[in-house]
Amino acid sequence: MTNQISKTTFLKYLRCPRAAAFEGDAAAIVRDYQRNLAHIGGEEKAKILEEETKEKLRQLFIRLIENDEGGAESEAEIESGDFDGLLKDDLTLKAMLSTYFKIEQLTAEKAKKTFGGQVLSGMRVGDQVIGQRYINLFKDGFNFHSFVDVVQEDDSAVRIIEAKSTTSKKFAELGPKKNKELCPIFERSPFGVLRLKEDFEDFKPFDKYYDNREKLMDRFRDVGRYVYDLAWQRYIIENSTDDKREYRYYLAVLNSDYVFDGRQDEKGENIYDADDLIVLVDLTQVTKDMLLIVDRDVNTVIDRINKPDFSRVPLEKPKCKINGSYDQCPWLKICMKDLMVPDKNSLYVYRGGHTGFGPASDKSKEKVQKEKIEELIWRGITKALDIDYDWLNDTQKVQYDVIKSGKTFVDKKVIKAMFKDLKYPLFHLDFETMNFPIPMYRGEVPYQQSLFQYSLHIERTPGVCDKEKDNVSFLSTGKTDDREEFIKSMIKNIPANQGGTVIVYNAIFESGRLRELIEMFPKYAVELNSILERIYDLKDILDPSKKIIADYEYLKSKPCTFNYYNESFQRSYSIKKVLPVFAPHLDYANLDEVHNGLDAQAAFMRLKYLEGKAFDETYKNMIEYCKQDTWAMFEIMQGLRKLINEK
Ligand code: SF4
Repeated sequence: MTNQISKTTFLKYLRCPRAAAFEGDAAAIVRDYQRNLAHIGGEEKAKILEEETKEKLRQLFIRLIENDEGGAESEAEIESGDFDGLLKDDLTLKAMLSTYFKIEQLTAEKAKKTFGGQVLSGMRVGDQVIGQRYINLFKDGFNFHSFVDVVQEDDSAVRIIEAKSTTSKKFAELGPKKNKELCPIFERSPFGVLRLKEDFEDFKPFDKYYDNREKLMDRFRDVGRYVYDLAWQRYIIENSTDDKREYRYYLAVLNSDYVFDGRQDEKGENIYDADDLIVLVDLTQVTKDMLLIVDRDVNTVIDRINKPDFSRVPLEKPKCKINGSYDQCPWLKICMKDLMVPDKNSLYVYRGGHTGFGPASDKSKEKVQKEKIEELIWRGITKALDIDYDWLNDTQKVQYDVIKSGKTFVDKKVIKAMFKDLKYPLFHLDFETMNFPIPMYRGEVPYQQSLFQYSLHIERTPGVCDKEKDNVSFLSTGKTDDREEFIKSMIKNIPANQGGTVIVYNAIFESGRLRELIEMFPKYAVELNSILERIYDLKDILDPSKKIIADYEYLKSKPCTFNYYNESFQRSYSIKKVLPVFAPHLDYANLDEVHNGLDAQAAFMRLKYLEGKAFDETYKNMIEYCKQDTWAMFEIMQGLRKLINEK
C-alpha cells in the first residue's frame, strides 16, 4: 500500500466522493499518511510506469473501437469485460505496445525537427519503455506523479509534450459555424503547430470563440480530457520546479489528413514521415488558465482520501458514464443497486429517454420542463413501469406495453411489405476491420477502418441456404497488404451483372467501407459500386432508420418507429441482442477464441506473429466467427419469414 497518486489514480478519485471511497486503497493510504516520502525507489517507479503504460494502452483500445464520429460506425460491440481480457493477451499487447511506442518515437522526431535542442523521450526495452522524465509533487503527505512522454529543451525554453492517440480533427474542427462555414478557433503556425487564434498578433475575437475555447477546459468532453491530462502535468511541474526557463505545453496528435504513401525499409517495416503524421497542439495558455481548476481538484482528491465517504450520491451521466460500455464507472452496479435500479427494464430502457420525461407539452401553453432519468431515479422512480404512461411518446408506449404484457410487438404487414422488395439471390455479407491509429497500408489514413475479412452466405431462393456449402469468405494473413485480393474475391462472389440484394446488418458500416475501397482502388469502382447500390440493411426491417422511413410511404405514417420489439432487446438492436430471440441455438460463447468483433481485431493483430499450427488454429477460428455473423443474418430472416407467414 502506498500514498503515491499517479494521474490514473487521481482521475479515479476525482469521479465522485463515493467512487474515491470505493477505490478501496483509501483507508490504507490514510494509515500510511506519515510515511517518509523523501525517496522514491526504482521498484516503485517501475510500478508507476507500468500503470501509466497500461492506461495508455487502454486509451488506445478505446480509440480503436471509437471513431471520430463517436463510434457511430463502429462494428465491434464492446463491453468492459471484453476489453480487460485483451490486456492480458500477450500478442495483442505486443502489437498495441509497438503502436504506442511508435507514436511516442514519431512525436520525439517531430519535436526535434520543429524545435531543435535536446529531446528526451522513452526508449523501448523489450515490452517496456524506460528513460521518460519522471515528475512529482509532494503535497500534504501525498506524492502526485507522472511521466512526461517527450521533453524538448534548450537554453531558454522547455517544451512538455504529451502524445495522444487521437487525431488533429478534434482540434482543427473546433469552432462555431457561420452560414454553415466552420470558423476554427485553432490555426496552423508557420512551423505547422496548431495554435489558438488568440496566440496570433492579428487576433480578433469572433462570435462563440470563447464558448468553443471553454470546451477545451471541460474534462468531461472528448477534447477536454486530453487537455486536462496536460494541465495536470503542468500543475505538478510548476509546483515542483525552480527552473526559470520558459515552459510551453503541447499535445501531440495524429494528423487526420495524413495519407500513408506505402514506403517501407529493407526489412519491410513501414516508414512514416513524423513531420507530416504528427501534429503539435500548443495549449500553453489554456493549461495556464486551468491551473486553478487542477489545484481545486487536487485538494478535493486529498480530502476524499483523508475522509472516505460512502454515502449515496445522485447518478450523473458525465461522471458515471452510464453507457454500459468500457469507460463507465466501475462502481456503477453498486450505485444502481443502492438506488433500487433494476438490471432489466429500468428507466434506461426507453428509446430517447436521454431527453428526459414529463407531461406532453401543450403547444398553446408554456414548454414543460422534462425531468432527467437520473433525477427521477433520485426520487425513487427507477423501473420502466413506474413512469406515467402519458409521459411517453408512441415508440416508448410500445416498449411499455411489451414489458407489461410480456408479448413481442410485431408489425407483420410492414415487415411483409419490406420483404417483397428483396431480390434473389440474397448475399448476406459481413466485414471485419482493424482501425489502427497509424495507417497500415498505402492510401490509408490514421484510424482507417482497414478491411481484413469478409464472410458471405448466398441464399439463392427464399429460405434455402446451407451454412457450409453456401458460404464463401476471405481472410487476410495479416502479413502483407492483400486488400486487392480481398476485393477480387468479393466481386467474384457478388457479381456485378447478376443482380440480387446484398444484406448487411448496420449498413452504415459496410457502405462506408465500400466507399473507401472505391476511393483507394478506383479500377474496381464499377463492381464495388454495384455492391454498394444493392445494400439493404436487415436491421431496417426490425427497426427502420430515418433514411428508410423517408423512402417508404407506409413507414412514414406509422406512429411507432419499431417494426419488431422484444423485451429482451432492452432498447438495443445489436445482433448480439436480436439473434437469441430468433436463433437461441446460435451462441457466440460456443465459438473458440473469437467471440465478438473486438476478439476478431485482437486475433488479427496476433496473426502477424503466429506461424504453423498456432496460425492455422487462429485463422480457422476467425473464419468460423465471421461465418457465424452472416449465418446469424440468414437465421434472423428465417425467423421473420416464419412470423409473417403465421396466421
Ligand atoms: S457510479 Fe457514479 S455515483 Fe456511483 S461511484 Fe461511480 S461516479 Fe460515483
